[in-house]
Amino acid sequence: MSYDDDNIFAKILRGEAPAYIVEEDAMSLTFMDLMPQSEGHTLIIPKESAQDILHVSSEALGHVIRQTQRVAKAVDEAFHPDGVMVAQLNRAPAGQTVFHLHFHVIPRWSGEAMPFMARDMADPIVLERHAEKIRKYLKNID
Ligand code: 5GP
Repeated sequence: MSYDDDNIFAKILRGEAPAYIVEEDAMSLTFMDLMPQSEGHTLIIPKESAQDILHVSSEALGHVIRQTQRVAKAVDEAFHPDGVMVAQLNRAPAGQTVFHLHFHVIPRWSGEAMPFMARDMADPIVLERHAEKIRKYLKNID
């Protein structure tokens, strides 16, 4: 399967679809997941057009992994979860639903169910509040 320019994350990168953006730099975009698995669920994507981890340049991947670690630290400080899940899925049988490479940072709390698939649309006001909360801590993380 080749890269499809019409996927939703490509549209977000082009500014054709809205997103609650946490941070943008020359090589990556960090934004809130629209149907979060928990409070603070954040996505990190490269700007490079790569459908999955098997099709990305090592330079872009290195940058995105570094950004994922920064976001994990910021989310940890912002939400104080018991655990932080970093997830990345490749191709539909592995659970991938959006075919532009992305890393999930998902705060987890002890005793909470982990509904990996079942999700509801989040309140826009809450998403913006969470984006702002993470932004605040990102400023202090190299
Ligand atoms: P995947 O299952 O491909 O690893 O994850 C795709 C993620 O993208 C899901 O967590 C889903 O909630 C999220 N998602 C799907 N459509 C949109 C959208 O339009 N905007 C945002 N911000 N997230 C989306």
